[in-house]
Amino acid sequence: MVNPVVWDIGYLISAALFIIGIKRLSSPKTAPQGNRLGAYGMLLAVIVTMAKMYSEEIIGLELIVGGLALGTIIGVWMATRVEMTGMPELVALFNGFGGGASALVGLSEVLTRIKGNDIPTDNVELYATWIAIGLSGLVGWLTLTGSLMAMGKLKGGFYLPLSKKDDRGRRKWINFPTWGPPWLNFVKGGLLVASIALIWMTIQEPGNTDYVYALAGIAGLLGVIFVLPIGGADMPVVVSLLNSMSGIAAAFTGFVIGNNVLIIAGSMVGAAGLILTFIMCKAMNRTLSAVLFKSFGGGGRDTVTRTKVGSDPEEVAMVCDGISKCVIIPGYGMAVSQAQHAVKEFADLLEAEDVEVLYGIHPVAGRMPGHMNVLLAEANVPYEKLIEMDDINSELAECDVAVVIGANDTVNPVARSGEGPLGGMPIIDADKARVVVIVKRSLSVGYAGVDNDLFFEDKTMMLFGDGKKMMNELNAAFKDL
Ligand code: NDP
Repeated sequence: MVNPVVWDIGYLISAALFIIGIKRLSSPKTAPQGNRLGAYGMLLAVIVTMAKMYSEEIIGLELIVGGLALGTIIGVWMATRVEMTGMPELVALFNGFGGGASALVGLSEVLTRIKGNDIPTDNVELYATWIAIGLSGLVGWLTLTGSLMAMGKLKGGFYLPLSKKDDRGRRKWINFPTWGPPWLNFVKGGLLVASIALIWMTIQEPGNTDYVYALAGIAGLLGVIFVLPIGGADMPVVVSLLNSMSGIAAAFTGFVIGNNVLIIAGSMVGAAGLILTFIMCKAMNRTLSAVLFKSFGGGGRDTVTRTKVGSDPEEVAMVCDGISKCVIIPGYGMAVSQAQHAVKEFADLLEAEDVEVLYGIHPVAGRMPGHMNVLLAEANVPYEKLIEMDDINSELAECDVAVVIGANDTVNPVARSGEGPLGGMPIIDADKARVVVIVKRSLSVGYAGVDNDLFFEDKTMMLFGDGKKMMNELNAAFKDL
């Protein structure tokens, strides 16, 4: 039998690696190292846990090796197959896995204890353990189903293998409506009260598994109903909140099984996710309670009936010739078309002509926090050139040309009206530039489904087409000048 201090030292080193890692994530320069340290910390935690379980004969070698191999294969398969545009859905799914794993560990602990008649006789211990088990189940199951809903909403629906193909040869999807009548808040409240009552009942009758299963069902339903009314531009807030909840569920599970590293790592994910949630709320000019209970994101999608004549790359290149300041505003379409390298080349061409080029980054541009920063870093855009919304807005009145590449909601002036799904969301003031060039395939609406007046302004030049293709054509036209 190995001295238990060995495991504690292993967990301590692992927790230290997490803490130093997350600290290093606070600056773009040190972030890759922070990421690596966090990964080493997790690897160490997994190795220590496996070794501990083997040494204490909790599970055999076959299960350890089999579980590790299966997890590694699925993880590598998912991570290598995922497109950059699918990352937000994958992140949502991983949040759900985190919540589900914590809930399963809590469930297995309570069932093992009931089966083995290992129910604490001391009241304080009973309350502490059963409340921790109940909360890990409540938060864990809620996070699992809520994250699956969020993933479906980000994806636009789920594929149904056996359904009929539509006239474009695609199979039908299950769509997730954004639906939230005010009375749904009472249902949410009722389910939450029922969950707490069930946790209470598990303490009153600690040997009764019916309450445990009922709690799992109600918490799962609560997750679905919790995410159902949230949509449109409010999705970033709910995704980061679910991320935080997956950490909180893990911390509760850490208490349940007495695992310190799970408590530390879970609390860190919970706190970091909560901070990100509030940053996202601030970016959307919303309070968290408004996002969760008012269903701003709801509403249908506008149908675009207006038209606008498109410009060609040669015209845009001529407009860009001789300017002194250009602001590039990227959005989700840049990620879809993988245009970041062509965008960087465009910036290089302008800079060679002594044009000052800056990038305006909206906090919710793309489909996950930091989406644009990651893509532009991949194209070697210096981090100092990525300017946050408030700062870039003070530059835009002095800007000759704003190039909006695949962004829509984040530059939609309708947000200033305070009405509709985007109402009140601060935007990047692209319309303050002298000329606006918008690269996208059509006049269609963005994620929140709202028509955009910016496309129809006289100073706006629409460059219709795939982002990467149009940027490459624009670069070629600029070189030919
Ligand atoms: P939007 O989603 O509003 O619009 C993206 C635009 O990109 C579309 O209008 C589309 O127009 C265009 N596009 C799509 N494919 C291409 C392509 N291949 N080439 C060129 N253009 C393309 O983008 P924004 O980044 O401005 O806003 C993000 C939205 O997503 C916000 O509403 C935000 O709240 C939401 N969101 C953000 C999350 C986050 O964490 N950042 C998470 C979840 C949601 P067209 O079809 O005409 O080409």
